[in-house]
Amino acid sequence: MEHLERADERVFRAVQDETARQLGQLEMIASENFVSPAVREALGTVFTHKYAEGLPGRRYYGGCEFADEVEELARSRATRLFGADHANVQPHSGAQANMAAYFAFIEPGDTILGMNLNHGGHLTHGSPVNFSGRLFKVHAYGVREEDGRIDYDQVREVARRCRPKLIMTGASAYPRTLDFGAFGEIAAEVGAVHVVDLAHIAGLVAGGHHPSPVPHADVVTTTTHKTLRGPRGGLILCRAEHARIIDKMVFPFIQGGPLMHVVASKAVALGEALTPAFRDYGASVVDNARALARALMARGVRLVSGGTDTHLLLVDLRDRDLTGKDAEQALERAGITVNKNTVPGETRSPFVTSGLRIGTPALTTRGMGTDEMKRIGGWIADILERPGDTARIDGIRGQVTELCAGYPLYA
Ligand SMILES: *Cc1c(COP(=O)(O)O)cnc(C)c1O
Repeated sequence: MEHLERADERVFRAVQDETARQLGQLEMIASENFVSPAVREALGTVFTHKYAEGLPGRRYYGGCEFADEVEELARSRATRLFGADHANVQPHSGAQANMAAYFAFIEPGDTILGMNLNHGGHLTHGSPVNFSGRLFKVHAYGVREEDGRIDYDQVREVARRCRPKLIMTGASAYPRTLDFGAFGEIAAEVGAVHVVDLAHIAGLVAGGHHPSPVPHADVVTTTTHKTLRGPRGGLILCRAEHARIIDKMVFPFIQGGPLMHVVASKAVALGEALTPAFRDYGASVVDNARALARALMARGVRLVSGGTDTHLLLVDLRDRDLTGKDAEQALERAGITVNKNTVPGETRSPFVTSGLRIGTPALTTRGMGTDEMKRIGGWIADILERPGDTARIDGIRGQVTELCAGYPLYA
């Protein structure tokens, strides 16, 4: 980065500081990951210069032959990876992918059914502070208070009552396997379009560690930067019959020119996701999450649903005199980065909360395994027991730094 260093000292410094931060702490935010050097290199290429509105072979600009090539690679790898008929790789983000999916099928004022945000849903699934909550009539399903799992009878009952035009399946904080077949049946019964938002678990589905939604959904949206381990961005998969409308909703309805450097990088990441090494990676992500769950539960830490099938756990702090906000801060002091999260039945505000969301995708990319998860689980339990004991937390910080030094990011 010699050019950046010379041209803009302050931005260069911030990049150096951020690099050191990422290396020196335990990244356990469930939605984050570390991309490969190849994926990152593609992001810094000359494709950022190129306007390529339209689709491969049908562009509004000249000079698109190589843009066509990378976009075609990304599309064909995406459809092969997930077994889908059609892919649009242009959404700038997961939120954009969802917006395109909604407008492909419904109009403002129509009714949607999505997962309650406090139970693990996403803002774009009908929150009042998001376009989805402003434009659509929103009904929600949730999880059972007793076992933290989705109550499919309740989903069916709400769907029969509210007759949604579209059912949005998927979550940002649900640690258990989603039964896409059950959602698909309910959608068919009430005549709703079925959209699955795979943002968090796309990498697990790609590797065969979570059942695929593709046979049960009209459209599947996802981010590319979470477990899928690609650049920050979105992706839409759909049945052949919906290909035209989905493509038209991404451009020109909600977006302008695609970020071609990101599309090139998505192609690289999707290529990586097709390899046996990526399948192994996904298996380790889930093994690590289970090992972490066991270590925490052995120390009396309560988890929503009593464990995990995926890459994330949801700690329920309601049996303690500790908020999610304070727990997040205490862990951050120790160099363990997580996020506070609402839990089912939440009584506190989203800025305070009674839970923590913890994920293993990033540490697994760094090469850590179940032994490390056991140690980290012990540290987290120590801190949750005595969140005010700064001397003890600072001692753990030292051990975290040592552990990180053994797992360089780009070795
Ligand atoms: C992360 C996430 C999104 C949004 O992705 P952005 O790229 O941040 O817009 C959408 N849906 C779900 C379920 C998510 O977890």
